[in-house]
Amino acid sequence: RVQTLVVDGDRVVGVLAKRYGKDVAIRARKGVVLAMGSFAYNNEMVRSNAPRIFGHPAASIEAHDGRAIQIGQALGADTAHMDATEVAFFCDPQLMVRGILVNGRGQRYIPEDTYPGRIGQATLFQQDNQAFLVIDEAAYEEGMNAESSSAQLRAQPTWVAETVEELEAEMGLPHGSLQSTVDLYNRHATEGSDPVLGKKPEWVKPIVGPFAAIDLRGRTGGFTLGGLKTTVDSEVLHVSGAPIPGLFAAGRCTSGVCAGGYASGTSLGDGSFFGRRAGISAAR
Ligand SMILES: Cc1cc2nc3c(=O)[nH]c(=O)nc-3n(C[C@H](O)[C@H](O)[C@H](O)COP(=O)(O)OP(=O)(O)OC[C@H]3O[C@@H](n4cnc5c(N)ncnc54)[C@H](O)[C@@H]3O)c2cc1C
Repeated sequence: RVQTLVVDGDRVVGVLAKRYGKDVAIRARKGVVLAMGSFAYNNEMVRSNAPRIFGHPAASIEAHDGRAIQIGQALGADTAHMDATEVAFFCDPQLMVRGILVNGRGQRYIPEDTYPGRIGQATLFQQDNQAFLVIDEAAYEEGMNAESSSAQLRAQPTWVAETVEELEAEMGLPHGSLQSTVDLYNRHATEGSDPVLGKKPEWVKPIVGPFAAIDLRGRTGGFTLGGLKTTVDSEVLHVSGAPIPGLFAAGRCTSGVCAGGYASGTSLGDGSFFGRRAGISAAR
């Protein structure tokens, strides 16, 4: 495990590491490529830089302890987008698309057929982590029986009721809020459209009783997306703006393409695309 970088003047020429408890020094003839993952498992770094996911489960591995960023910073490396995070939302999309997601005021806030990571970001960042899935019995049964890659994220209803008014009261939502949301949704759903938020017509059906709601409050986790600032050739940049000689980085220890909005695949894409460029740059 790498502990720190070794420099000769301003050039990175190796690493100090521990191998089974013993100290080892490794000389790098051409350069060092840092690819040690994010800081999702470093509570202090998360609290300081990405507090919105502090205390939430990290969708990551413990080796993502931020060390690559810290040993780069110790040499004056710059960072970017340290507050950016992916936010996983733990609910089966087969259920979500067949219902409506509402916040703590009983209002819809996102199309239910969008990428779940976007739902996670919208829920945690803009809705105070308050989310409920309102769904009718027929849609719930259909969703539970549908083929799913996220079947382990299926959930039992938290509340059931014969009318929306009763459901709203059981859930503790402001009186009339969920009723008006369902009324508006159903008014357009009878024509198979969702002009308010743009859910695709294939998922839009009026919600009719009996009604259920699944409590999705707190069902978010995530990992960090910010890190060392690099060039497109994966050179790590000093705060002065110049590359640090001999130091390269790729993957989640850098700030990659997905800092502005996460989608599955962008992490592995970042790692492989910029990892290759880091290797080429170091070899040159
Ligand atoms: C459950 C789950 C599902 C995911 N699904 C997707 C997906 O569908 N698509 C997608 O693109 N991404 C996905 N991701 C995210 C993606 O897997 C990671 O963001 C990506 O693997 C990060 O790549 P990396 O090279 O930066 O780090 P890693 O692949 O974690 O590699 C870093 C390596 O460095 C090692 N290391 C750490 N510190 C040291 C040290 N000091 N010395 C030596 N070695 C060290 C670690 O042990 C690890 O082997 C998922 C992640 C999780 C947890």
